Amino acid sequence: MHDVKEVFRDQEAPAGRIVRAIAAIGAATASQLVKSTGLARSTVSTLLSELKDCGIVLELDTKSNGFGRPSQLLSLNPATGRCAGVLLGLGEIRIVICDLAHTVLSDVWFEMRRDYTPEEAAEQIKDNLTRQCASLDLAIEDLLGVGLAISAPLSYDGRVLNGDVLPTWGGVDLAAIFSKHLECPLHAENESHCGALAEMTWGAAIGEKDFVLYKFDLGVGGAIVRDGVVQRGFNGSAAEFGHIALDPNGSLCRCGNRGCLQTFVGGYHLMRHAEEFGGQPVTIDQFIERAREGRLGYRRLIEDAAEKAGWGMGVTATILNPPLFIIVGKLATIGEAFTNPLKRSFARHTLPPPDQVADMPRPRFVVGKFLGNDDTVLGAVALVLHQHGRVANRSETRIKSTAA
Ligand SMILES: [Zn+2]
Repeated sequence: MHDVKEVFRDQEAPAGRIVRAIAAIGAATASQLVKSTGLARSTVSTLLSELKDCGIVLELDTKSNGFGRPSQLLSLNPATGRCAGVLLGLGEIRIVICDLAHTVLSDVWFEMRRDYTPEEAAEQIKDNLTRQCASLDLAIEDLLGVGLAISAPLSYDGRVLNGDVLPTWGGVDLAAIFSKHLECPLHAENESHCGALAEMTWGAAIGEKDFVLYKFDLGVGGAIVRDGVVQRGFNGSAAEFGHIALDPNGSLCRCGNRGCLQTFVGGYHLMRHAEEFGGQPVTIDQFIERAREGRLGYRRLIEDAAEKAGWGMGVTATILNPPLFIIVGKLATIGEAFTNPLKRSFARHTLPPPDQVADMPRPRFVVGKFLGNDDTVLGAVALVLHQHGRVANRSETRIKSTAA
């Protein structure tokens, strides 16, 4: 007999691989599961029968490709497991609970002091999550996991690698602090990596295995996805595209270097220039509205930003040669006034030049589904669904050692 919690958390067992593959896709055919898990067809077939018998896997409608016998679509039984995602934002926290069919069951946000501490966050999250779980007849321990999304790169063991957005959080051991309050598996990742997982689970990257995501918002972030897995790099800070150095004499960046991509393209930079131009403070939403309308000065600011954005993406393409770029963040909502000059600049900054090799396949550019802030909190839920960014939970260790 399989227990959904045991199966879901077991990184190695074949049943765990099948359940996590379905959790990541939402609904899948047996053939898709053979392909994505690499298991033998007979193993997948036997385990699916067992998982169906114990109510973890459900049969949905059939899917026809127009030829031969239609294939049976399988999903996880939404009633068997819930997961939560937490966005640790600037002056606010948002918590979402989803079931295994990716349906949002609860969505709550609350304000915090702007410089709240990790301990304050952990206490508030425990209180709010306890109430949210109670409204669904659950306890926190019943959750398959809680994902934490934060605006900073994280090490593999859940340590905040720098605190340029939340200054008091640099070097903080998230796993140690949050596991004192949340007795269930913990996952943690930076928000751009969460954004890629949200696009893979709910958005423009469903079914995409290889792509690069660029997020153009107040800052610039990104993610590299290879073979369906978000790449974290050697120390967890892969795809920090906002810090690609374009000008050694440029403005100082929050990271301490000069001329980083986000000092040209980040929303903070654009708002500052718009204020200099108009003599009045401008919010990011006002900036975007005026750029979209093509107002004097704003159109030029966005074209200059797109030029640098395309340059950064061209550098990325020269190194990684991905088949697909997904563009998200508030700047993506400006539309072609941003994406057209970006693509022209991209073509000038990568190989091969388009007029040199006519029949060379080009990467696709797609604007993502999540252009506001939903990507981060849903991506935090997806950390659990994809079993990504797992950090050791000290309370689990404690429970285990007490039991032993
Ligand atoms: Zn920088």
